[in-house]
Amino acid sequence: MDCIFCKIAAGTVPAKLLFEDDEVIAFADIHPQAPVHVLVVPRRHIVSLAQAVRSDDALLARLYGTVAELARTLKLDHGYRTVINTGPDGGQTVDHLHVHLLGGRSMGWPPG
Ligand code: 5GP
Ligand code: ZN
Repeated sequence: MDCIFCKIAAGTVPAKLLFEDDEVIAFADIHPQAPVHVLVVPRRHIVSLAQAVRSDDALLARLYGTVAELARTLKLDHGYRTVINTGPDGGQTVDHLHVHLLGGRSMGWPPG
């Protein structure tokens, strides 16, 4: 399958890894939008949150548990932003579900 995040999860495309276990992998975004910009990604190819079903609930919880743990490890003690872009209107550009963890600067609201 021609999916860049599947290739990173398989180790065939390099990335700066911050965390990995049997279900989840986290790596630095190649075009960081903040001093800390990490992508937390399920190893399994799920296109987007729009494709997630209730049997994926445990995996979704694990993604966010990983985000929370990483944020503590990275000492984002002043807070951080998590984002899941979904589909064309959501601004999704890579069709493999991922959570953005952004931190190290103050974030604006509303998002663009
Ligand atoms: P999206 O726009 O789908 O929410 O987010 C996709 C993210 O993946 C973007 O922030 C983009 O910079 C990042 N990205 C795209 N290709 C690569 C890559 O090959 N390696 C890494 N580390 N990040 C990537
Ligand atoms: Zn994939």
